Amino acid sequence: MVRAHNFNAGPAALPDQALAQAKDELMNFRHTEMSVMELSHRSQDYEQVHHAAKDLLRELLNVPDTHDILLLQGGASLQFPMIPMNFLTKGQPNYILTGSWSEKALKEAKLLAHPYTGGSTKDEQYRRIPHTSELNWSNTDDYIHITSNNTIYGTQWQDLALDAPAPLIADMSSDILSRPFPVENYQLIYAGAQKNLGPSGVTIVIAERSMYERTPEHTPTLLRYDTHADKDSLYHTPPTFAIYMLYQVLSWVKENGGAEGMAKRNDEKAAVLYDTIDNSGGFYTGHAAADSRSHMNVTFNLPSEELNQTFLAEAKDAGFIGLNGHRSVGGCRASIYNAVPLETCEALRSFMKDFQAKHG
Ligand SMILES: *Cc1c(COP(=O)(O)O)cnc(C)c1O
Repeated sequence: MVRAHNFNAGPAALPDQALAQAKDELMNFRHTEMSVMELSHRSQDYEQVHHAAKDLLRELLNVPDTHDILLLQGGASLQFPMIPMNFLTKGQPNYILTGSWSEKALKEAKLLAHPYTGGSTKDEQYRRIPHTSELNWSNTDDYIHITSNNTIYGTQWQDLALDAPAPLIADMSSDILSRPFPVENYQLIYAGAQKNLGPSGVTIVIAERSMYERTPEHTPTLLRYDTHADKDSLYHTPPTFAIYMLYQVLSWVKENGGAEGMAKRNDEKAAVLYDTIDNSGGFYTGHAAADSRSHMNVTFNLPSEELNQTFLAEAKDAGFIGLNGHRSVGGCRASIYNAVPLETCEALRSFMKDFQAKHG
């Protein structure tokens, strides 16, 4: 079967194996004579999927016993307000700004608290991640919020083993499970599934249980982390099909070497594209500084806006999907999440070289 060269930023490419498995059992899930979508979320057949997905996440990310895995809805965007609703103490959390999504997280926190910005590379067009020595952070911060991968600008924290002086919270929507990292250094991690883990509709939250005691009593039930923790993410109807697909994607990750296997695969893929940029004699220029380059979203420009547009139009005609930069920054962006095959990156490399030969 022919599959598109899919560089979509999210929702994004899924592993063929996960889709094929879903197709095989779509009408008759494990001899139930029902689709997994048609099962009660209180049935044993569904609960097995639910727990298998959570168990695999715990195994693949090496999540310690101190942390819960929650499967929520509302996307990463609902986490922006939920975090301050649950975790404020004095009312002054710290938001490190590395791109548009961190700005959005900060904007929601401002509705509920008095956050400050302990680091930002905004005046450098978010080309790089600040060094920890540049950060202004303190043990009096309610919590410290970072965005591990900046989907729109194409930068990524290279070292996630941060030793923060206050509870550390990370939006990992666009790079979760793309490489190993120490979960225990974080008090909360969240990620919409639709980039690296599955289809849209489910949001993964990994929360250290000790944080729940901060949640004020007046917090609405559905917006409290402990509600979902106490009920095993079955307080209300979960997005059952999205969780089933999450399970299929995680099974594929496990069969392909887990987080380490993904890191190796992603390093290779990213090298194909960054080498093409670096060896183009300046025809292609990366947006990100070399020491902050994302292995998930490769952002680049051509020598003129006109050439950007010609490149995007010709790439589209040649069957490459989703290469337009985000509408807020323009240029080109190749999103190469876990499921994007090496061959797709190699095909883009050939196209980029041919395009340069023709127009360079
Ligand atoms: C895509 C993305 C979001 C938004 O996710 P939704 O699930 O659409 O709310 C937030 N943060 C980052 C880093 C993202 O890449």
